[in-house]
Amino acid sequence: MSAALHHDRPNPDRQNPDRWIKVLPEGLYVEPGGFFIDPVRAVERAVITHGHSDHARPGNRHALATPGTLAIMRQRMGEAAGGSLQPLEYGETLRIGDVTVRLVPAGHVLGSAQVVLEHGGSRVVVSGDYKRRFDRTCAPFEPVPCDVFVTEATFGLPVFRHPPDLGEVGKLLHSMALFPERSHVVGVYALGKCQRLITLLRAAGYDRPIYLHGALEPLCALYRSLGVELGELRPATVAAKEELAGALVLAPPGAIADRWARRLADPVVAMASGWMRVRQRARQRGVELPLVISDHADWDELCRTLDDVGAPEVWVTHGREEALVHHATGRGIRACALALIGFEEEDLEEVGA
Ligand SMILES: [Zn+2]
Ligand SMILES: [Zn+2]
Repeated sequence: MSAALHHDRPNPDRQNPDRWIKVLPEGLYVEPGGFFIDPVRAVERAVITHGHSDHARPGNRHALATPGTLAIMRQRMGEAAGGSLQPLEYGETLRIGDVTVRLVPAGHVLGSAQVVLEHGGSRVVVSGDYKRRFDRTCAPFEPVPCDVFVTEATFGLPVFRHPPDLGEVGKLLHSMALFPERSHVVGVYALGKCQRLITLLRAAGYDRPIYLHGALEPLCALYRSLGVELGELRPATVAAKEELAGALVLAPPGAIADRWARRLADPVVAMASGWMRVRQRARQRGVELPLVISDHADWDELCRTLDDVGAPEVWVTHGREEALVHHATGRGIRACALALIGFEEEDLEEVGA
């Protein structure tokens, strides 16, 4: 464990990271580097962990991220993505001010990264959003031993245990076999969930065309251009009603229960989200077939990750912080909630591309 590694030889110059990483109104600020990580408003210099809209916001004068994340930002925001966009490949190091920065895969969505910071004899890992299970659409999470691990806690309660993905996809395929004349419309988040669900369906042997709401098309095209195989996709908007009978249609969560979906043939309304574990959320959305598929770590993955990185100190950024702080403290880890604001329960809310 790096903690032991760092503490075996006491370093008189070692500065505890809470002295050089601060929570400011704009977000997490790395003072000796003069940059923010995933700032909630435009700043001079930002490091962006991934392309979801609550992490990658427009208007920063200078933004650093993986090439995948920058491609997503450019597509979603155009010119507003930032004054200058600087790519940093996974594993490469860069010196910014008095800090060494490295990006390491987070396994969340294409391009997603943990930010590894070294300064004053300490290593801090800001993980952004992450998950630990297999996902064909992005590089897998890499645990990096560190002195302070900064973690999300979107599903940070022991009741959140995501079932195996292929079992959830099996439910969808089973329903399609039971109701071959009905359309199945599945609500998916445009960035990540959509493409992951498609690759899961393909892995389960579903090789028919998959129909897409227009809002999902640009990011699918981008994923493809970056080498992610998605099979045959067709626009749902131009397809005839008869063609969509028995078909699988993917749409943003906001579209599955409205007029757009009602033109489909007697649709079965499904939704793929970690929140589908909560029956009431499924009901609120008029979801008949909830599929528990998430791009965030569940409780077991969060706890396992704390073990894997072996950090003696953990900061929890957003989500359900208390239970994870309590769990970590019980394991002898110093833990606290940072109470960062501005991060949404993105798994459910976003509509557009
Ligand atoms: Zn995210
Ligand atoms: Zn997030």
